[in-house]
Amino acid sequence: MLKRIAALVLGTAALGLLGWGQVVTVYVTVDGEPADAVITVSTPGRRVQVAYNDVHEPGVVRLQLMRGEYSLRVESGAGFTTTAHISQLIVGPGHPMEIAVELPRAFWPRETWNYYSADLHVHSSASWDGITPPDQLVAVQLSADLDLVTITDHNTILGHAPFGKAAAARGVPAILGEEITAFIGHWNAFPLHTVVDYGRDKTASDYFREAREAGAQLIQVCHPSSRLWGYFQLLLGSPEYDDSFDLVEIYNGEFSAGDEQTIATLYELWNGGHRYVAVGVSDDHDWRNLQSRTGRARTYVLVEGELTVETWLEALAAGRAYATYGPHIRLSAQGTALPGDTVFVPHGDPFELEVELVLVDVDQPRELHRAWIIRNGELWQEIPLSGHRATVRVTDTPTEPTWYAVRVFADDEDQAHSNPIWTTPR
Ligand SMILES: [Zn+2]
Repeated sequence: MLKRIAALVLGTAALGLLGWGQVVTVYVTVDGEPADAVITVSTPGRRVQVAYNDVHEPGVVRLQLMRGEYSLRVESGAGFTTTAHISQLIVGPGHPMEIAVELPRAFWPRETWNYYSADLHVHSSASWDGITPPDQLVAVQLSADLDLVTITDHNTILGHAPFGKAAAARGVPAILGEEITAFIGHWNAFPLHTVVDYGRDKTASDYFREAREAGAQLIQVCHPSSRLWGYFQLLLGSPEYDDSFDLVEIYNGEFSAGDEQTIATLYELWNGGHRYVAVGVSDDHDWRNLQSRTGRARTYVLVEGELTVETWLEALAAGRAYATYGPHIRLSAQGTALPGDTVFVPHGDPFELEVELVLVDVDQPRELHRAWIIRNGELWQEIPLSGHRATVRVTDTPTEPTWYAVRVFADDEDQAHSNPIWTTPR
């Protein structure tokens, strides 16, 4: 494990909390720049506090701690671009303390690969079941080192204004959406300018049409295999099913059997020629609940040129994306083809795939474990991996229309899935 003893403890002027505790200010930088951060404060065996910086004060996290021994876990993009820093702290009476933590980026997809990330399913307190204030939701997402921020509350866009304002103040692109929530399924729509409300007699087609009229370029099926709320589970195969959506959540929160089922269903849909784009999302509702974390699953999208909401959504719609809990995937074929592309392959000619993989430690050391090359929905090749970086090359000679995608696992079972490259022999 990287031992980065960047913590610098400065006892300064006396200012106690009732004499038996104190204020601890943590300054967090990533590659030397003040960075949004989340700090988990725990005593042995017990978590006591989760704290973020204010959205308007990146890199400054204030904790109020009583006398005692603590462990601070300081994160900004942990497991994706940086590794969490863990430091021990003894709080005595009276003295405010200042700690500086520098988190070097181990890998930065946006700089190295032009891949930019967002978590396309996140709730604020504008949702009836959300806790996170909309403006602070921006800081929460930036503390996960996401490159664009997203809001998708249930049947409301009331959070858009405070969320959009905070994002603008921070200069980060904001994807304003909604989770259309009905008894026949849940769908995220982005971007959205007016609310699409629940209606007892509305069909999926009604919701989709209303969303498109409200400006939505993309409609995403949320937790598709959920028994209670999943559109695939509820309607796939029925006459009320409308297939005119764009995105499918293959990862929703911590990986589950439902996600595995969604992947199997999506393979069938891909085999049927439906080019839906696979995305990963957290579906987080509560910034203090560390069982569910914003950005835990996310989607990285390749954007050549300027990053805006429009360019990112356009590239996502084209399928230039991977969904991930940590591993990074850069898939290409024949030197120039990218996920989402269709490649014409002369009969009998080789088709070459190249996959670059990168993994960042969360806090404990971890390594890439295995890559699966998926061909038309079947596990075609399993390639054992090790270390933090790997390049995999495979060659096939497709004789029928064939799609190829990559699913990769780390040794802690965090995984990622690319979108397919499609081939047509001729
Ligand atoms: Zn949701």
